[in-house]
This record gives sequence, C-alpha cells and structure tokens, in this order.
Amino acid sequence: MHVFTTVSQIQSFLDHARSQHNYISFVPTLGALHQGHLQLMEHARAIGDIVVASIFVNPTQFNDPSDLEKYPRPLRSDIHKLSTNGVDVLFLPMDEEVYPPGLDLKVSADLTGLTDVMEGPSRPGHFEGVVTVVKRLLDIVQPDALIMGQKDYQQQAIIAEMIRQLAIPTKLIRHEIVRDKDGLALSSRNARIDPALRPVANTLYKALLQAKELYLTSDIGDVIDICSGMILDQGFKLEYFTIIDGTTLQPIHHWEHHDSIVVCVAAWLGEVRLIDNKIIYPNKSSIPES
Ligand code: AMP
Repeated sequence: MHVFTTVSQIQSFLDHARSQHNYISFVPTLGALHQGHLQLMEHARAIGDIVVASIFVNPTQFNDPSDLEKYPRPLRSDIHKLSTNGVDVLFLPMDEEVYPPGLDLKVSADLTGLTDVMEGPSRPGHFEGVVTVVKRLLDIVQPDALIMGQKDYQQQAIIAEMIRQLAIPTKLIRHEIVRDKDGLALSSRNARIDPALRPVANTLYKALLQAKELYLTSDIGDVIDICSGMILDQGFKLEYFTIIDGTTLQPIHHWEHHDSIVVCVAAWLGEVRLIDNKIIYPNKSSIPES
C-alpha cells in the first residue's frame, strides 16, 4: 500500500493510474477504523482497479472542540487494517495540505433543506465542514466512484446532492449499515459506551425494526410515539426519531407518494451520542437496504 501525505504525491500517482485507464474507487474516513469501514473498502475493491482510502480528522466538521480532541487516532493499527484489506493508496494529509492558506474552498451548492434537519440543528457548521472536505478530497483524488456508508444517511444524501448540482463526474455508491451481532450499528463511538449500558445499546435498532413492522398499518404519528417510547424506556435521551422522505430528508405525514422512506434516530446513551437509520421503503432503483 502506498501512503501519500501530500497532494502532489497522490495526484502524480493517480494521474498515471488514470492514464492506464484504471477505475479509481475512493473511501474517505476519519480513521479509527472498524469492520464497517473495512466493508466499504471491500466494496471499493470489488468495483475498482485502484482503491484509495483517506484518513483525515477534519477539524471543520467538529462543532465541539473537545470532540475533535477526543477523536481516537489509532494510526498504526488503521494503516495495518487498510494494507491488509485491499487498499492500494492511503491519503494521509496534514491540515495544511487539505486547507492551504489562500485557497478559496467554498462550495457553491445550495444544500439548505437537507442540512437544516436531523443532525443539522444540534451540530451547527458540521455539514458545511463535511461538504467542504469531501469536495476538496474529490478534487484531489478525482475518483470514478465514491463509497459512503448508509450509517450517515443524511451526510450521504447531502453529498449526493452536491455531486448532482456541481455535475461532478463521480458515481456515489451507498453501502449498507454494518452492525454488531445484536444489531448495534458499528461506530468508533461504540468503544465509549459504558459497559453497563452496552446491553441496551441495540434498542435504537429494535425501534427501527418496530417502525418497519408498523409501516403502512399504523399512522406515522403513532409509529413515532411507540418507537420513541421504546427508546426512552431504556434510559436514552432522545434527540430525534423521525420518518423522512429519503430524497428531500423532510419529515413525512403520509406513507404514500414517496420514492423512498427512511426512519432516522439520534439519542444519547449515557455520554455517547448514537445515530442509526433504516430504509423502510426503498427506492426501487436504489441501493441495498441494511
Ligand atoms: P467516518 O470515519 O465516521 O467518517 O466514516 C467513514 C465512512 O464509513 C462514512 O461513509 C460512514 O458512513 C461509513 N461508516 C461508518 N460506520 C459504518 C457502518 N457501521 N456501516 C457502514 N458504513 C459505515
């Protein structure tokens, strides 16, 4: 595996790869890699000639400085995981490579509506940071395919819209959520869950399954009440439990007339904020459901 830390290094490698007509697939990450990330790498391997991963703990997407500071950075083990999971190129830039002084990286896509729901209100500036860094990484890597996880449903929908508006010639592929045996969605935050609370951590997933069970047979308001109750009963602090249109991300009030419907949840278990989602009505032309 090649490890590049500068834009010029990775670009000259990839320019050559492109001149040989290699299909480049790209998986951006913040590191602290788990099986969820590694399945994205596997997907990238299956479709690409050259698999590029990046590890960059992007400061502009952290609205809470202590969250940025606490973010785990097990670099040695991450590099080992990538090199043994089919990754050809790791881009590992310093902040100055991604954000060189004097470069205007403002992204000119209008994403309001998508960014101001769900994660938006509780994480001001987060999606602006995500959009800026993903656009910058796409400019550097120029991949044929970008693979992102459904775990961050809203993030992936926002990036899809950015790619559409800016006509970026990269295909966005959404990979299904990778879960622990009991259904808890894998996340680097899971390591911080109090072991005494770990047995109930999969309640979010159970509530999502319950919502899918009630799809079409109950009113949306009732589904939200029942599923929120399940989560609150287990001692979570609930931020949102919402049923949305999979494209506009707006809450829906009727089951009918949507291409896809997704149930999304965010809740605190002790000191750890968890998110999860389930596609309960998939767009037929879409991507696998988890
Ligand atoms: P992160 O390092 O948290 O930015 O995640 C990098 C990529 O991995 C994002 O596209 C995430 O959506 C994806 N990802 C993280 N956890 C999972 C998971 N449990 N299943 C599938 N994809 C995931």
